[in-house]
Amino acid sequence: MTTATATPADIILGSLETLLPDLEAVYTDIHAHPELSTQETRTAGIAAERLRAAGFEVTTGVGKTGVVGLLRRGDGPTIMLRADMDALPVAEETGLPYASTATGTDQEGKTVPVMHACGHDMHVTWLIGAATLFGQARDSWHGTLMAVFQPAEETGTGARALVDDGLLTRFPKPEVILGQHVMKGPAGTIGWRTGVVTSAGDSFQVRLFGRGAHGSMPEASVDPVVMAAATVMRLQTIVSREVAANEAAVVTVGALQAGTKENVIPDEALLKLNVRTFDPDVRTRVLAAIERIVKAEATASGAPKPPEITPLDRYALVTNDAAATKQVVDAFRHHFPAERLREIKPAPASEDFGTFGTEWHVPSVFWFVGGTDPDQYAKAKAAGRLSELPTNHNPRFAPVLHPTLETGVETLVVAASAWLT
Ligand SMILES: [Zn+2]
Ligand SMILES: [Zn+2]
Repeated sequence: MTTATATPADIILGSLETLLPDLEAVYTDIHAHPELSTQETRTAGIAAERLRAAGFEVTTGVGKTGVVGLLRRGDGPTIMLRADMDALPVAEETGLPYASTATGTDQEGKTVPVMHACGHDMHVTWLIGAATLFGQARDSWHGTLMAVFQPAEETGTGARALVDDGLLTRFPKPEVILGQHVMKGPAGTIGWRTGVVTSAGDSFQVRLFGRGAHGSMPEASVDPVVMAAATVMRLQTIVSREVAANEAAVVTVGALQAGTKENVIPDEALLKLNVRTFDPDVRTRVLAAIERIVKAEATASGAPKPPEITPLDRYALVTNDAAATKQVVDAFRHHFPAERLREIKPAPASEDFGTFGTEWHVPSVFWFVGGTDPDQYAKAKAAGRLSELPTNHNPRFAPVLHPTLETGVETLVVAASAWLT
């Protein structure tokens, strides 16, 4: 706290220290029991139970596993806080005492390891913490607090599922929507920005068709392995040769699969692509270039039929409203010491958080909370090895409990209190 006068946020946060051991237990429990996208029933159950205990009216099963809680305290704006709940098909390698050993069944029916490798367990715990504190201090604020626990962020379908299940008509329209994500960065620091904050994300699967033959008779084949290799290399020229130096894009081929045996030329090859852009025009251009190159390389190879391009998922840009961001950041500046706040560049990550503000036509603000051990971060930075620290989705991604846990509760309470006075 940097000021002498107690704000409503200070009053609400007065019991945070007492609540922390409980939140630590919630976090380690959810971390040890991760659930894949659209299967977040246990996690949703915990969220619903905690909201009820804090005095919220609770609706469950929104968009299959989503939970919406409302705490009404008279006249005033409705403020929506959002946390996502799902985990990833990743085998945890953190070595933590509460590491996950869970498995799940993915959409293709395969058994896969499951881990909270993106930190959504932290997001759920933060929102439970903030909701609990707002419930305990219910006489210190006015308005309506709306806590939304969202399924399936990792598949880009969860926010949409809530909207399709009537979120906009069944619940009061918020004045602002607030969300946050744990990221690599010194624990306890907060990264914010106005305008575009996360990239648009587009994923595709590309099937390249060739003609199989014996490995000793390539002249009888149209080799999809060579076709795939040429395609992958030429796709790399989109960013280097077609996107301007002051624009940005990412084109990643994350999967390349073909063949089974050294002396068999297979019939087809499969590519999976992931694209990130920060500007709608650049996005249109990059996606058109991908289609052009994939088709042209198939033609150049003499493919028997054109490639099949199937969209896998799509995330829109997340854009922070200028006025609402100022209101949040002013409140952060009042509460946190200046060195804990960083203005950041747009993150080449994608989020479906933006769906809520876009659909509801209300401003939204999304920010990041660092989760890396500050000493480890400082050492890596001094050694020029920041890129080696585990990022989200890495099997060793493990936010330190403190001060990550308390910081994310504080940010939610401070930001929401900027409206709920
Ligand atoms: Zn993620
Ligand atoms: Zn995430």
